[in-house]
Amino acid sequence: MNTVQRFFRHLHTVNTHRFLVMKMCFSCGMYKQGLMHDLSKYSPTEFIPSVRYYQGNRSPISKEKEVNGYSQCWLHHKGRNRHHWEYWVDRENGKTNLICLPMPFEYLLESVLDRISASKTYNKDKYTDAEPYEFFLRSKEYHTMNRKTASEIAQLLLYLKENGEKKALRHYRDLYKQYRTDKSFTLESRV
Ligand SMILES: [Zn+2]
Repeated sequence: MNTVQRFFRHLHTVNTHRFLVMKMCFSCGMYKQGLMHDLSKYSPTEFIPSVRYYQGNRSPISKEKEVNGYSQCWLHHKGRNRHHWEYWVDRENGKTNLICLPMPFEYLLESVLDRISASKTYNKDKYTDAEPYEFFLRSKEYHTMNRKTASEIAQLLLYLKENGEKKALRHYRDLYKQYRTDKSFTLESRV
């Protein structure tokens, strides 16, 4: 595949992904986040390596990491997008260890919608409502991130697996509504 083809395919992937996430964000009542989701993917720092390492069936970031050991694109992306748990990693004051802060609910929910959309994009017609949950539990990040955040994401994705997308989006919207009226709201862990 030549550069021009990879350029347009990547552009199409980003646009399609953003549109999918936007639709789901809107049905949960998250309008601003729906419009702003992943806008940094159009910046040259993210767009150029993504075209170079375009894969089609998985993220170009994985390929960039394979080749260089790290991804310039990812470092730029996770530093600007609060829907990634890595945005919330910091060093504890006066200590040497890193801590993963728990994600605020609106970004956690955006991250769930992001995972559903990414799963649809990469699995194409093999996608099922169970896939985002199964993939998340198999992933290394599940074991790395903040325990509360991991369990909440798992819980929301399990709801999707058990109840299907339509019902899940209604459930997410209700939870988001509760969160907006009471910012101390947290999910009760089932997983
Ligand atoms: Zn993102």
